[in-house]
Amino acid sequence: MHEVSLMMSIIDTAVKTAEQEQAKRINRIALQIGAKSGVVIDSLEFAFEMVSKNTIAEQATLEIEAIPLMGECLNCGHQFESKEFLICEKCGNFAKVLSGQELNIKSIEVE
Ligand SMILES: [Zn+2]
Repeated sequence: MHEVSLMMSIIDTAVKTAEQEQAKRINRIALQIGAKSGVVIDSLEFAFEMVSKNTIAEQATLEIEAIPLMGECLNCGHQFESKEFLICEKCGNFAKVLSGQELNIKSIEVE
């Protein structure tokens, strides 16, 4: 399960951040997950429950912001949201990815 190893590195980063701030616990971890990042948000939440056990992140709130897949047409510049393929809805040309591949830690709150 990809989400478990991803969450392990997120918790690891959060714990290191807390140690740097000499914090006793982690209150909140906010993530940005793109629709095309390959990560299933439900699995990530489940992984968080598992991985945070017996760490200072155990009581933390996990906030996940889902970022939609957005494209910009290489031909006409039209920007649009898409579920699957990045083909312009106006002219049918290929589009480049603007967002949707994020796999970011947005913020970590410690105490
Ligand atoms: Zn177009």
